[in-house]
Amino acid sequence: MSNSIKENIQNLNREKIKEYLLFRDKEQQELFNVACNVRNNSIFKNNAELRSVIELSNVCRQACRYCGMGKNAEPYTMSKDEILERIYFLANLGRRTFLLQSGENISQNFIDTICECCQKSLEKYADIKFVLCLGNLSDEQYVQLKDSGATRYLLKFEASNPELHKYCRPNDTIENRIERIKKLIELGFQVGTGNIVGLPKQTLDDLVDDLILTTKLKLSMVSATRFIPNDNSEFKNEKIGDLDLTLNYLAILRILHPECLIPSTTSLQDIKNKIDGQLKGLLIGCNTVTVHDGTPPSEEIKYNIYSKNRYIPQEEYCRKIIKQANMKACAYLI
Ligand code: SAH
Repeated sequence: MSNSIKENIQNLNREKIKEYLLFRDKEQQELFNVACNVRNNSIFKNNAELRSVIELSNVCRQACRYCGMGKNAEPYTMSKDEILERIYFLANLGRRTFLLQSGENISQNFIDTICECCQKSLEKYADIKFVLCLGNLSDEQYVQLKDSGATRYLLKFEASNPELHKYCRPNDTIENRIERIKKLIELGFQVGTGNIVGLPKQTLDDLVDDLILTTKLKLSMVSATRFIPNDNSEFKNEKIGDLDLTLNYLAILRILHPECLIPSTTSLQDIKNKIDGQLKGLLIGCNTVTVHDGTPPSEEIKYNIYSKNRYIPQEEYCRKIIKQANMKACAYLI
């Protein structure tokens, strides 16, 4: 059974993958075991990358209907000094990988600030890695960021079905988003992309198409978050994404991408039912955990992509689940 699961997934057998997405109980455990073995036998073995996120700004020109960023919140943008102070503080504690994330803010001043922060910190700490997640920017801005020393960029396609994409992200198109992802790859970034599982109107076939799209791109990182109805978003009354479906999707993603970093995100937490979804993510093949210690606490509430009640993991918790998953925390893996 295990061999055929792996084979059917790697052959992109649509009907089988749809079956696997719905696996529960014993069969689901079998899928998880296959995925976990794929990771442990990969170049990464049982190492997990522990990184910090710094949420730079909630200013955004998109209007993604699932996202609450900047909605019902005062706009904020961290200054150069605030960003550098945070990076140096965390770097002195030993952190080496920084995810710089923000709304899609194309202001040249903002991009200049980020570039300066990357350059300055790399002069001070040569072994720091920057992962940028700043949305669709111009070719020139991507080049500028690359030249400032950032090596990785995350740009999720979110939903590969063109209609679903337009419905969720009315200010963009899937064609444009994919074109931006390809541009980042062409410029030599280590690129990550992915989707959201459980979006309103999303079908199982859409999820298979999302998986297929990830295999067509030269990726270093790949991800899936569970859809969380954000109180400040247009989708606030929609149903939360199914946790098992998301875990199955992530396991399949791991089997398709043995050599990619895959994050276990806070969207997997089920506080109400006391399910530690982030630990589960690590047990089924994920290998990246993000510590939310980079954003000034005063700004945290203004930067809410998931929900104001979202779980905000600190280092102690991240190290605990990495240990529980029989993994080893690392400063970076790529
Ligand atoms: N402006 C950047 C960063 C967006 S936030 C960009 O466009 O890439 C980072 C990720 O959070 C998004 O790519 C999206 O996949 C995820 N996200 C946002 N809101 C979400 C929600 N309600 N549920 C699940 N994932 C969400």
